[in-house]
Amino acid sequence: MTRSQELFERAVKRIPGGVNSPVRAYGSVGDTPRFIQRADGCYIYDADGNRYIDYIDSWGPMILGHNFPAVRESVKKACENGLSFGCATEIEVEMAEFICERIPHVEMIRMVNSGTEAVMSAVRAARGFTGRNKIIKFAGCYHGHSDAMLVSAGSGVMTSGVPDSAGVPKGCTQDTMTAVYNDLESVKTLFSQAPKEVAAVIVEPVAANMGVVLPEKGFLEGLRSLCDQYGTLLIFDEVITGFRLAFGGAAEYFGIRPDLVTYGKIIGAGMPVGAYGGRKEIMEMVSPVGKVYQAGTLSGNPIAMAAGLTQLRYLYEHPQIYADLAQKGEMLYGGIKKILEEEKTPFTINYIGSLGSLFFTSERVRDYGSAKTSDTDAFAAYFKYMLKNGIHLAPSQFEAMFLSEAHTGEVIHQTLDTVKKYVAGHM
Ligand SMILES: *Cc1c(COP(=O)(O)O)cnc(C)c1O
Repeated sequence: MTRSQELFERAVKRIPGGVNSPVRAYGSVGDTPRFIQRADGCYIYDADGNRYIDYIDSWGPMILGHNFPAVRESVKKACENGLSFGCATEIEVEMAEFICERIPHVEMIRMVNSGTEAVMSAVRAARGFTGRNKIIKFAGCYHGHSDAMLVSAGSGVMTSGVPDSAGVPKGCTQDTMTAVYNDLESVKTLFSQAPKEVAAVIVEPVAANMGVVLPEKGFLEGLRSLCDQYGTLLIFDEVITGFRLAFGGAAEYFGIRPDLVTYGKIIGAGMPVGAYGGRKEIMEMVSPVGKVYQAGTLSGNPIAMAAGLTQLRYLYEHPQIYADLAQKGEMLYGGIKKILEEEKTPFTINYIGSLGSLFFTSERVRDYGSAKTSDTDAFAAYFKYMLKNGIHLAPSQFEAMFLSEAHTGEVIHQTLDTVKKYVAGHM
């Protein structure tokens, strides 16, 4: 038995499923997790001493690569002053100023501890501001695990969400309406059923939690104008895309101005951080200024702020990183596409910048329904082969691959060679 297997045997006795977040359990690929000991640059090392090229990157935060020296040093330095005060600190002001002065649609921002919290709070602020209850979300988009966002991810239009999890009362999801990604007609249908009741439309401007699905031309623009027409707020959930597609996220990349935006992942550089921000008059609804209650004992934690702000500063001061990541993306995802085309394998690869997903389906993947046509058994076989050959992918068909600045041309070529060998032998 490997050390990872031993640890997993112990873990399942004391932690549900042996993991603190479900996708880590490898359930959908029929394996057990590798327990990780350390990571550096683009490499991650498990408890048995195996080294992998890592394409999870902690699900996005490690855009500069693992264990990035400046971030590590900023944390060490901040630790010397104590871990938490539960009081206001200078670095929180610096973080808020740094973001608001560089991202035009973020006039005010509030720090929280996770993406889930950011979304939950942004939705509450939107409801408080508009005095309306309903929210439109899209099937296949993930917005964390708060009750109202856990609606059954059917692929059709739904006016009243059915809970997707035990323990979520119907009352919590009855105001969550579900539309189809890339389908403006489905959004119009929902608006026409409740024209004066929709507080917000929330969307992943590039969906990355049903695998990567790009917004088609006109989709985000259409959402913006529908929201304007109905007096509804547009929330971009940029927990993955923020500071990744561009410093100003998908909003900057596509030139669309959301009313509110949520951040997570990259903003904390690996520390537990989330944030929500946007128009001043909406953010001023939040307590203690306004009547929308939202709080957090550890929010704006000085160690987390030090890590996050160091990473954001580095990204902003090195804007060529974004062109660089896009080039690496073209090399990796474009390379996989070429290999599979030559083999005439049924596949679709969606990618943008550093994000990409290989779907084992011949259908064009543009929404949750088409993503679901993927052959997940074929994905599982591919995943296991890649892992055995030193390549650490997200253990699910419906997750993204994350490239970082630390992925060199050499490791990308090594990855492509492995894909090529797999395809030659198995597909
Ligand atoms: C990861 C994610 C969340 C949830 O963030 P957590 O920090 O895991 O709570 C919300 N929205 C999107 C788009 C995400 O990818």
